[in-house]
Amino acid sequence: MMRLRLLVALTAFSGLVSPALAQPQPAPLPLPPAVPDPQDKPFPGALTVSVDATDTAHHIMSIHETVPVPQEAMQKGEMILLYPMWIPGDHSPTGVIEQFASLKVQSGGKTVSWKRDNVNVAAFHIPVSATTPTLDLHFQLLSPVTPDQGRVVMTPSIVNVQWDQVSLYPAGYFTRDITVKPSVLVPHGWQIGSALRAAAYGDETHFNATTYNTLVDSPIYAGRYFRKIDLTGPDHVPVALNVVADDPDSLNATPAQIEAHRNLVRQATTLFGSHHYDHYDFLLALTEELGMIGLEHHQSSENAAAPGYFTEWDKTFPERDLLAHEYTHSWNGKYRRPADMWAPNFNVPQRGSLLWVYEGQTQYWGNVLAARSGLVTKDQGFEALAYMAATYDNQSGRLWRPLEDTTNDPVIAQRAPLSWRDWQRSEDYYVEGQLIWLDADTLIRKLSNGQKSLDDFAKAFFGTNNGSFIVSPYQFDEVVATLNSVQPYDWAKFLHDRLDTIQPHAPLDGLKNGGYKLVYTDKPTSFIKAMEGMRHGLDLTFSLGMSVTKSGKTARVHWMSPAFKAGLTSGETILAVNDMDYTSDRLRHAITDAQKDPKQTIRLVVKSGEHINTVSIPYHEGLRYPHLERVDGTTDYLSAIYTPR
Ligand SMILES: [Zn+2]
Repeated sequence: MMRLRLLVALTAFSGLVSPALAQPQPAPLPLPPAVPDPQDKPFPGALTVSVDATDTAHHIMSIHETVPVPQEAMQKGEMILLYPMWIPGDHSPTGVIEQFASLKVQSGGKTVSWKRDNVNVAAFHIPVSATTPTLDLHFQLLSPVTPDQGRVVMTPSIVNVQWDQVSLYPAGYFTRDITVKPSVLVPHGWQIGSALRAAAYGDETHFNATTYNTLVDSPIYAGRYFRKIDLTGPDHVPVALNVVADDPDSLNATPAQIEAHRNLVRQATTLFGSHHYDHYDFLLALTEELGMIGLEHHQSSENAAAPGYFTEWDKTFPERDLLAHEYTHSWNGKYRRPADMWAPNFNVPQRGSLLWVYEGQTQYWGNVLAARSGLVTKDQGFEALAYMAATYDNQSGRLWRPLEDTTNDPVIAQRAPLSWRDWQRSEDYYVEGQLIWLDADTLIRKLSNGQKSLDDFAKAFFGTNNGSFIVSPYQFDEVVATLNSVQPYDWAKFLHDRLDTIQPHAPLDGLKNGGYKLVYTDKPTSFIKAMEGMRHGLDLTFSLGMSVTKSGKTARVHWMSPAFKAGLTSGETILAVNDMDYTSDRLRHAITDAQKDPKQTIRLVVKSGEHINTVSIPYHEGLRYPHLERVDGTTDYLSAIYTPR
């Protein structure tokens, strides 16, 4: 609204401005017609998608796809094909449309021209008629050659085929109503793991016909070095661990390690009291070359871990909740799905208002099941929990941004590097969600005198319709109602307080009710030492407020930390510590020395771009690392939670 006095003044001088009014103001050009919404009706005929994934030298997949043209499209004179953009599990439009190339459309041997929609650039308009009963599409996926171009999916020893990256599908249909016959060609002698099934497997494998939904949900790992390990549990529903690696030695799992993975299947199916797959395939790449991934599907999951996952078992435990997390998603996320995250095709936007259940409770069970199955020890699980609790308790962004708002972060930031991550906040609903569910679990135990727990919620919420993998959507009220059915309490207020309001501290009541408290000492836990080893860096998060790589580069500087106040930012290189060349040991010693002598500061010579600066950090509290400490005289619910069933 314009202010009145200003309006009067403008009117008074209207004679002065009138010549400019002779030129018309611009008006918006109407947008072209929108791509038709998906309808729940069968797509006539079946697509075929044939992927040649043998060009690992150039990281190129070549695709031949055929698409029957429905009568309806012939009458309209146009068919619209879509490239999938909203990839389930990514929670944002991450489709790699920039890698889609060399599209050639033919029908009956004649080339058909295509035109990209210039509003929805993932939509292709193709003229069709009675003389074009089938479209022949040829195109390529120019997958990243280096990690700075995107996630690497082809290496000399591993190929990861994600069907959303290598297919187009017709607009106007629910993707569950589209049938597709897929096939893949892999380098000679390689083996494949996938939830797709075929009558016979070889270099070229023709899979059984399936729906487009199940196709996108059933990626492939193909490997030069491959091992399939049976993990089937007492319910006899087939579960397999399909491992590919950069190097054959990485496949050397011991019987005890395999047993821990088998325990994961036993513990999860015991917890949820159900399964939501006909068979389940863990796909695990042990690699430094394939891009990192942890992506859930109904009947499989894509996982990547360090080459030493099996062979350096004691050093790699911090990442061993990964398979437990992705497997939990078969129940939480794939079968039970927030109603605003279910979409009829792969180009309708999803919303993530309940990601603190979808990811938060999965993070919770992922950590708990890893401990219950023996993938990590109880102490390792507690150390991980201490680290997460401390990290989020020191998260400065919680002073301005409620947790619920971070559920928009997959779309806002798309996991891009951030300059001040802890002040901006990120996808905090994962780990802070985990802490909220620990809080809920211990509260249920306390209120019910140990008779009930979040295990009862899991069984009630995720254990319905055993064997079915038709998505069962839910909303906030059902979460509250199910919690109330386990243990009456004002769960709506409990959740709203922790999600929607500013909370200066992380929800740590779960530690208190569980019989523990968070303390800091100058000794790092084995979890922190292992993390430092895996990341080749120095973690000073809870002392100077930064982490530093092996070469002295500041990887992350925390908001208003001593390092921040001294003027440091991420991406700078520490050249010297107290007048000596930088080493991680010298920086640790400098912190310890400054604790002993209040007059001594920590002097760093820092290179920032072309600039050399000397900074002095007046910090005297020494090294600080988080631990859980048992509170005597309280019930140890936390140990009960982490104990196998
Ligand atoms: Zn997840």
